[in-house]
Amino acid sequence: MNTPLEQLYRLQDRLRFVRAREKERDTIPAELVEVDREYRDKVEAVERLKKRCAEAEVERRRANAELSEHRDKLRKYQSQLRAVQNQREYGAVLNEIDGVEKLVRAAEDKILNLDEEIENATKELASRQEILPLETEQHEERLKDWRVTQRQINDELTSAQEEISRLEAGMHPRDRIEFSRLLEKKGGQAIVLVAGVSCSACHVKIRPAALQALKAGREIIYCDSCKRILYWDMQRS
Ligand SMILES: [Zn+2]
Repeated sequence: MNTPLEQLYRLQDRLRFVRAREKERDTIPAELVEVDREYRDKVEAVERLKKRCAEAEVERRRANAELSEHRDKLRKYQSQLRAVQNQREYGAVLNEIDGVEKLVRAAEDKILNLDEEIENATKELASRQEILPLETEQHEERLKDWRVTQRQINDELTSAQEEISRLEAGMHPRDRIEFSRLLEKKGGQAIVLVAGVSCSACHVKIRPAALQALKAGREIIYCDSCKRILYWDMQRS
């Protein structure tokens, strides 16, 4: 592992390895998908109920405030009713009272509904919260083997990341940036092996002069067609 090209090739290999293993670590095995979803649903139900209870409490406070406003207004109109001078005024105030009474009834109904909702949600939340620790334990038990695999992958990732850091530290910052741009542009394949006399990525034949330069090593040669860095594996040739 000496030449810059060998190091680039290794760096790319490790980066690809990390990406693939991370994906593997974060993808739950098919046989556990259903089990995992059921458990997540239970956790989410608890969160949803907590949120709904808090929201309903706020709504109830607001409805209570509205109700006392409407009741104040009602009392005001009722005292006006006692002071009216004529039939026309009497009719007008009665009309106002009728409208405010409707608002009072609506606010009371709303509070009753919210009370009922809060009571039911609180009960359901309590019973779900009570069994959740046990469900979590059972879930982790079912996922035990998968957790072991995940930890193994994490260990592999740690050592791969260390190697990546070492390789990157050995590069000139400008080369490192250029290489990572090329990696991004070429879908993670910035440096590719020569297969026979062709680029292994795009299969276009390499010019004889370029092939000679490649075999001599040390010099960076790009594929004329796909513009990737060509890599001649000395050990394989
Ligand atoms: Zn190519």
